[in-house]
Amino acid sequence: MKKGLMKIAALSAVAVMAAAALAGCGGKGDKLVMGTNAAFPPFEFTTSTGLVGEFDGIDVAIANNIAESMGKTLEVADMDFDGLIAAVSTGKVDMVAAGMTATDERRQSVDFSDTYFVASQVMVVGADNADITKADDLKNGKKVGVVLGYTGDGIVTDTLQIAEENITRANRGIDIVQDVKNGKLDAVVIDSATGKALAEKNGLKVVEDAEAFESEEYAIAVKKGNTELLDKINATLAEMKANGEIDELAVKYNQ
Ligand code: GLN
Repeated sequence: MKKGLMKIAALSAVAVMAAAALAGCGGKGDKLVMGTNAAFPPFEFTTSTGLVGEFDGIDVAIANNIAESMGKTLEVADMDFDGLIAAVSTGKVDMVAAGMTATDERRQSVDFSDTYFVASQVMVVGADNADITKADDLKNGKKVGVVLGYTGDGIVTDTLQIAEENITRANRGIDIVQDVKNGKLDAVVIDSATGKALAEKNGLKVVEDAEAFESEEYAIAVKKGNTELLDKINATLAEMKANGEIDELAVKYNQ
C-alpha cells in the first residue's frame, strides 16, 4: 500500500515535471510578450477586431512584425503605464511598446531601441475654450489632467510647476480626457497623436505650444543588457522605416 502510494507520488512528480517542460517550450519560448497600456490610440487600443486578440494599433503592428521575424507569437500584456518599466526590468514582459518616450531618466532602468516616432505634448481643451492658447496659461489656476508617469506628468509637475491641488492624475489617457468633456478639467496635457485622436473622438480641441513642449521620440524598451532582443527589434524597425511600413501604419491608424 505504502509502496503503491509512493509510486503514484513518483509518477505524479514526473507528470508535473513533464507538464512544466512542455509549458516551458510551448509557452514562453515561442512567445514574445509585449507590455503596454492599451489606452493610447493610435499606438495601442482595444477593439473587437484587433490585430492580436482585442489589441490593435501602431505599436501592436510593429511588435507583431518583430515577433514574426523571430518566429514567435506576439502576446500583449496590458497594464498601467506606470508599471511598465518594472515589468520589463523583472522579466515579466520581454519588451515595452507603449508610445514610450526614450528619456534619460528611463535609460537608467531600461535599454531603448532606435526611435520610431516623433511626438510632443499638446493640450486638449474644450471646443469653445478661449483662455488656453499657450502652456503658461495653465498656470492661472487651471485644472489640469495628466496620465500618471507619462512625460506629460513630468512637464506639468516639474517644468510648468502647476500647483499640486490643480493636477489630476489618471491611469488611462482615454479616461482623463472625459473629464475635459464633462467640465471637471480645463485641459489634459498628453502626447500629440493621442491628443488629436482623443480630441476628435470627444468633440474637443487641441492647443499646441512648440516653444513650451519639446519634441519626444518613441522607442521600444527591453531589460537592461538584453542586446539579443534589442538587435532583433532594431533590425525590424530599420526594415519597416526603409520600406515605408511605419509611415503606412501612421496613415492606416489615422494619426
Ligand atoms: N510618450 C509618453 C511617455 O512616454 C506617453 C506614453 C503613453 O502614454 N503610452 O510618457
